[in-house]
Amino acid sequence: MLEKLNRTKVFRDPIYGYIEVEYQFILDLIDSKEVQRLRRIRQLSGVAMVFHTAEHSRFTHSLGAYHMANLVLRNVEGMEHLNEYEKIIFLCSALLHDIGHGPYSHAFEMVLSTTHEDMTEKIILSPTTEVNQILSRIPGLPEAVAGVIAHRGKYPLIETLVSSQLDVDRMDYLSRDAYFTGATYGTIDMQRLLRTMKIVDGKVLCRTSGVHTLESYLMSRYHMYFQVYYHPVSRAYELLLESMYERIKDLTKKNVRIDANIDSFLNVIKNNDDIESYIELDDAYVNGFIKQFMKSSDPVLRRLSHAFNHRKLFKYIDLADKPDPKFLEKLKAKAEASPYGKYYYFENSVSAVAYLQPNKKLNSEDLLSIKVILPNGEVKNLDEYSPIVHSLISSSYKRVERIYYFEDMNG
Ligand code: ZN
Repeated sequence: MLEKLNRTKVFRDPIYGYIEVEYQFILDLIDSKEVQRLRRIRQLSGVAMVFHTAEHSRFTHSLGAYHMANLVLRNVEGMEHLNEYEKIIFLCSALLHDIGHGPYSHAFEMVLSTTHEDMTEKIILSPTTEVNQILSRIPGLPEAVAGVIAHRGKYPLIETLVSSQLDVDRMDYLSRDAYFTGATYGTIDMQRLLRTMKIVDGKVLCRTSGVHTLESYLMSRYHMYFQVYYHPVSRAYELLLESMYERIKDLTKKNVRIDANIDSFLNVIKNNDDIESYIELDDAYVNGFIKQFMKSSDPVLRRLSHAFNHRKLFKYIDLADKPDPKFLEKLKAKAEASPYGKYYYFENSVSAVAYLQPNKKLNSEDLLSIKVILPNGEVKNLDEYSPIVHSLISSSYKRVERIYYFEDMNG
């Protein structure tokens, strides 16, 4: 059905050695401007403020997820039953699953009235994008790929493999983020894991011989969440951005002209169907306007942009450390008295679990647990089989509450 390249194209990769591309079609998608844009968006945004080598892009992760999908096709028993069309849907969904991410995604989603998942769908389905034009060479493919990423239920096996507890997205980003942050707990024997997986009746199962690898996969996820992804300093950095976005919104509402060129950004805030403006936005775009803010006539934008560029981040207090309540009261009163308090003071909380993470899009029972197949054919939930995973579930829910603030809230 699809033209294969005469010679397999390879991308050098520090995690896998080589990432191979066999189809011209996939290469065209990789070369599309929407996928190339991901080179200009860092995977971990503010995390680089703590782990200074975490500079890898969403492009490298997208290629990695595509590669993991290829490895699943080659190594997991039962995947050979997929037809070529289904294999293509799987590979494209893995490659494109993050295409809707904006720069510094977390802060960005706070300001837009949409999520990166919705933007992914819009980019894939909009006839104006190169990605859509390439996918449309195969009738129905844009809708099929968008449907898999949005979990519409038409291709349940592929949907599970693209996003669930054990999917090609997580398999790539855990190893990749561990590698680029230098964290040692994210190294997982993925090849071994794949070889112990098996598809039975359209469901992903894991043999008992793979349980140790699964345990180490979930343990590393647990550590990565709290040591890396939710690091308080990287959160402080994101809050600076959120605060700038808030200020931009407030000024625009009052019709105050922002003295920096942020037209595409404002277009997207006004209308998130404006894909053309959305594609314009990347880390360089945001870093560019923050640099302009350093000379802004607005004191808040000026202060926040200096803080952002010179790493003068918000201070923080962890409530679990039982800080002096008088100090907290004073701080809050100071924020309330200052006209700028809402930009310089935050009560922030994050919560997460390393396993069975609640996700409104993944509400099916099957997706919420990894299944183990015993040698006698019996199928059990992983947490029933593994005492380690069982205790991880009961102990890994964490809620962290912190106050972030500038000591001087005057200007
Ligand atoms: Zn991803």
